[in-house]
Amino acid sequence: MVVAIDDDAMILRAAAKALSSAGMVCHTATTGAEGLQLIREHAPDLVLLDVVLVGEDGFAVCREIRRTWSHEELPVVMVTGLDDLASIQAAYQAGANDFLAKPLHWKHLPYRIRHVLQANQAFTALQDSTRTLRSVFAAHPDPIFTVDTQERVTLVHSGIRGEDNDSRPPLGTLDELLPKELAAEVRDHCQRALATPAEVLTLEITHPYENEPHFWEGRFIASAEDRVLVMIRDITERKAFEQQIRHMAYHDSLTGLWNRHALSSTLERIFQDTIRSEGTPYPKTAALLYLDLDNFKRINDTLGHALGDDLLKVVASRIADVLRPTDLLARAESTDVESVARIGGDEFCLILKSLGSPMDAGRVAQRILDALRQPILLEGHELVVTPSIGIALMPQDGRDVDTLLKNADRAMYAAKEGGRNRFQFFDSSMACRLQERFALEAGMRRGLAHGAFHVHFQPQIDARTHTIMGMEALLRWDDPEMGSIAPTKFIPVAEETGLILELGEFVFREALQFSQHLQTEGLPPIRVAVNLSSVQMLDPQLLERIEYCIALTGADPHNLEVEVTESVLLEGSGQALATLNRMKELGITLALDDFGTGYSSLSYLHQYPFDILKIDQSFVQALSGASQGRNLATAIIAMGKSLGMELIAEGVEDLDQANFLLARGCHKAQGFLYGHPMSPTDFRAFYWDRVGGEPKS
Ligand code: C2E
Ligand code: MG
Ligand code: MG
Repeated sequence: MVVAIDDDAMILRAAAKALSSAGMVCHTATTGAEGLQLIREHAPDLVLLDVVLVGEDGFAVCREIRRTWSHEELPVVMVTGLDDLASIQAAYQAGANDFLAKPLHWKHLPYRIRHVLQANQAFTALQDSTRTLRSVFAAHPDPIFTVDTQERVTLVHSGIRGEDNDSRPPLGTLDELLPKELAAEVRDHCQRALATPAEVLTLEITHPYENEPHFWEGRFIASAEDRVLVMIRDITERKAFEQQIRHMAYHDSLTGLWNRHALSSTLERIFQDTIRSEGTPYPKTAALLYLDLDNFKRINDTLGHALGDDLLKVVASRIADVLRPTDLLARAESTDVESVARIGGDEFCLILKSLGSPMDAGRVAQRILDALRQPILLEGHELVVTPSIGIALMPQDGRDVDTLLKNADRAMYAAKEGGRNRFQFFDSSMACRLQERFALEAGMRRGLAHGAFHVHFQPQIDARTHTIMGMEALLRWDDPEMGSIAPTKFIPVAEETGLILELGEFVFREALQFSQHLQTEGLPPIRVAVNLSSVQMLDPQLLERIEYCIALTGADPHNLEVEVTESVLLEGSGQALATLNRMKELGITLALDDFGTGYSSLSYLHQYPFDILKIDQSFVQALSGASQGRNLATAIIAMGKSLGMELIAEGVEDLDQANFLLARGCHKAQGFLYGHPMSPTDFRAFYWDRVGGEPKS
């Protein structure tokens, strides 16, 4: 919409006609005052104003307009006389946007007006965008520079609000401002940005700031043909996050060791190395050690997960210590330790690369065993966690990561079956053994439900009089498919699966019931010994279970004996002592089984409330061999006696052994010489035969 102001009504009419025929609305006024009134009323897009008005000065009207509206808000086109340069100049001074010289060409008028309007809109738009750009710059947190073709660097925006200055002098050239290599990189990016004007190029660099290492990101974009805008951002924090995330992806959060993911990718790399070296004069061998802590789960369950976590941390650091590259022993064995990973709750893996010989892997495993043998003190508990370690060699025991891991795992199970706290190299027969283990577990569950377990009893004799002093309850399992299976075979699996808790309670019940039964038949009361595994020792309900069996059968706790091995004491930590003391309070007799095997640390014997020392059958068997065996047995007997303990020799098979033991003062014995483990029926007959009587009923 246009407001035209002219004192000549003819001209106004012609102008209105020309404009309306071009689709524009035109209001007309013949005086300045009328014109201003129309402007206020209609807010036109443009004013067409004659320089000469009757009794008025068109320039004054224009100035009046400008008092309220700016050039952009309301363009004013003044109509001047032809070639009246003074008027043209005065028009601009008064605030006109443009002028038209008379005589006016009516056909051209709408085009001129439209042109002025468009130019004005473009100008306004430019101003808007400049304003926006300025505020974007001002709000931008990062410093922005320009680099021109002479490599002069100018700070456009400091990154601090209100610090912009369009006319700062250049800071210097790239070479003056940056180290040589960095300047070259920046130069390269500037050139590329100029060559590809639409693209934003990014460059990440490290460059110290206030003596601290810092990461920076530079973004380059051409802002003119000869100028590149460079935005610099400090990305140190982001880099730290990235680093943290990468660390988390490859490390175990509890111990800081590698995780399974890191292990696999490293193994992959080493594989390629070893396989590549095959057929060369120096083929490489590497080893994977798979380590599982024996009975860690029980410790975790009994003493709480927080303590379990702490324990794992200590174990992790002990393993790592063993493998320190500074460790002279490791160097002497020429093993190159890649790293340690924790790949499950209590499972650790170690990679040893470039082994001198496979035996080196065994030596490292042995050092780990030694390092973990020392008790770990945590919150007043003295804990011993022993590991079972499986070793698989690459490439011979597996030509890919999965196979190698599986075989090292199998070797670890074999180490567990072999008695734990040991290491074991993989051999190909182990694959079958693992299957057998699963078959055993399934069979045991079936057996428990269908009564395939029985308890046999082996007499304990006073060798001087051949009277029966006691009996040991020994668990038997007859599977309908697998036949009779030895306890040495199924008990480790029962321990691992936790089935031992149920089985153990079964043995207590059967043993006490049988002993009660014998008494009610009229036989003299004898003590019945029940074996207890370390897993049972860590069971928080152990005492409850035993007390329940005592109450159920009405047995006298003084006729109950509990046998534990030395490993039970070590694995059970301080808790074992407390549990044993509680048993003692109940009146139960305590025996240390298989004495002399395992840890043979005599020092702790004083601390534990044992009544009986059972000399392991290996010592009894050694009596028939070299004199050394006899000396050892003699020493053990002497020591047991000096501690005031009752001694029972296990596995006595012949008279020579019996006589030797008797001569040294060990009167009690258990073994095939006196009686095999027997079914309750056979034992009952055996006992009646010994006492020379008959059952009452
Ligand atoms: P142990 O407690 O040392 O039991 C003695 C083992 O020696 C028994 O083996 C017994 O049959 C065997 N033996 C007895 N006299 C002789 C002999 O003169 N010569 C020879 N060569 N061996 C003899 P068994 O029954 O196979 O039990 C093996 C182990 O299994 C036991 O060793 C014990 O540690 C464990 N075990 C057996 N029953 C149970 C049970 O109910 N609970 C737990 N936790 N462990 C059990
Ligand atoms: Mg025993
Ligand atoms: Mg024994």
